[in-house]
Amino acid sequence: MPVPDVTLAGAALTEARAAHRDRSGRLRAYDQIPRRPERPSDYRKYQLPVPPLPQQSFVTSGYDLDLPDDEQRRGAEMKAVGHGGVDLAQKRGTKVSLVPLEHQVGDADVLFVGKLFGNSVVTHHAVREGSGVRDYLVIHGHLEKPASGLAPGATLPAGGVVGYVGDSGSPGVVHLHLEVRRAREGVSLSNLGPGELVQNAKTVACDPRNVLPLL
Ligand SMILES: [Zn+2]
Repeated sequence: MPVPDVTLAGAALTEARAAHRDRSGRLRAYDQIPRRPERPSDYRKYQLPVPPLPQQSFVTSGYDLDLPDDEQRRGAEMKAVGHGGVDLAQKRGTKVSLVPLEHQVGDADVLFVGKLFGNSVVTHHAVREGSGVRDYLVIHGHLEKPASGLAPGATLPAGGVVGYVGDSGSPGVVHLHLEVRRAREGVSLSNLGPGELVQNAKTVACDPRNVLPLL
């Protein structure tokens, strides 16, 4: 009987059920993949699509879908409660580069270019996990603009240009919204419309620190 080579695959990530109240007071239940405890909490320890700023505050907001309802952010200016990604502050126009995920199989490819969280580029990554391969997507949001000529189906090697940091859809707050989601079993990402890419029924938010490579 062949012995699986566990060094070639990441641990299968476990979904957890969570819920919080949205701004209208309605309880919203969802699945999410919390950070594994052995993964560092400090985003500076990971490869990121933009270089971290020297200031302490380059992460303007982090993944919080794993936090209980009373710890969710509810600022007066905020449209939504619950944040399934990390917001990385950077200067307008800074290049956003493709970061392959840990245990990724082959190159990433472009799934969507258009309006999602402002101007967004969504990439697809096949990731060896547990005993199989799972499909992940990475949302690069609030871009000034995507890389020129980037279109669905294009492959993006490590370091390939995804786009440029901006504040589209977040006027005055120049940053990269970086969100990682795992497709549910049996869901074909290429058949999903842009709105469906972020639907809990189709994809599950994953703490980016589970799959971004460590430096
Ligand atoms: Zn964000």
